[in-house]
Amino acid sequence: MGGPEVERLVALLAKLPGLGPRSARRAALRLLQQPEARMLPLANAMAEAARAVRSCRLCGNLDSTDPCAVCADPHRDRAVVCVVEGVGDLWALERAGVHRGLYHVLGGTLSALGGVGPEDLTADLLLSRLRDGTVREVILALGATVDGATTAHWLTDRLAPLGVAVSRVGQGVPIGGALDVLDDGTLAAALRARRPA
Ligand SMILES: [Zn+2]
Repeated sequence: MGGPEVERLVALLAKLPGLGPRSARRAALRLLQQPEARMLPLANAMAEAARAVRSCRLCGNLDSTDPCAVCADPHRDRAVVCVVEGVGDLWALERAGVHRGLYHVLGGTLSALGGVGPEDLTADLLLSRLRDGTVREVILALGATVDGATTAHWLTDRLAPLGVAVSRVGQGVPIGGALDVLDDGTLAAALRARRPA
């Protein structure tokens, strides 16, 4: 229906998280029915974001400035770094306003099944960030999955020789839950209830 242009649009939309083929068709139809009001502004916003947004070379956040706004903010506590799996977790913590330090985006967790090894993560970058002694505490805010726990142990071992305090968020993080699905209150409680790793 609608020709190859529409098929292509639906196929691309269907790849987005939360959208299957059925919702993708619905979204495509809504856009096509209001090309001036919805579709072109969306297309422009996407092109603009693709052009402007990049990965922060310090922490791995996505922003239109590099270093990102968090890393460049002089009011952030540079002695505390919160390690998260992905940018979605960082944004969730920022939305909740529960962390006043800096972040480090690890890029995932170690996963034997998923074929993710140490070389796929940004742990080396994290260790090099810690070398100048500014950072005194690293908070591991990884999901409470088996892979998250494995990764937390592995990172704790690697951080131990550097003499920084390492803590883990605990209470309130559901088993198998990713941080970015938690509500703000739960995130705040999880961060407050961190304990030594
Ligand atoms: Zn940054």
